[in-house]
Amino acid sequence: MTRFVPLAASAFLVLSGPSVAQDNSEIRYIKAIFAQIQPLSFRDNVEYCGYIGFDANDNYVASRIIRGKTDECAPEWPDNFEPFASFHTHAGFDHEAYSEVPSVTDMESDEDEGVDGWVATPGGRLWFIDTNDMIATQICGIGCLDKDPKFVRGAQGPIGVSYTYRELQRYEQE
Ligand SMILES: [Zn+2]
Repeated sequence: MTRFVPLAASAFLVLSGPSVAQDNSEIRYIKAIFAQIQPLSFRDNVEYCGYIGFDANDNYVASRIIRGKTDECAPEWPDNFEPFASFHTHAGFDHEAYSEVPSVTDMESDEDEGVDGWVATPGGRLWFIDTNDMIATQICGIGCLDKDPKFVRGAQGPIGVSYTYRELQRYEQE
């Protein structure tokens, strides 16, 4: 099974052999999914979510996309493939919400289910949650994905490039 490794580890990847091209293909696939659901997420101010994995022919496949609520979304575990990652959007921009970073709950629920996670933010940031190392890494920044026209840069303070589980806990307590 191809697993995505955050870009920060790419130097190691080149030395150890796994295909960087495959990692890029996972990013392309998840970007294509978010291209469909980011606009809906902003329009309705709700999260959309699902799972991705490989089908029997090793092609990327996504589960049925679920429309959640403003601050939650429960994806449906598929019965036709074994997911390796969840994905979800963070609804529309909200001055009161810390939605530019994955939540502690995001990381915990992915870990509980034994998957990694992809998160899209109102600012158009793309995050990868690695539940082996319990670290969330910003794969690309503001405007990398569609962003909410209402998004205000910097409204939630400085956003780091990556957060460990403990750092996410601290971030939410600020
Ligand atoms: Zn989330």
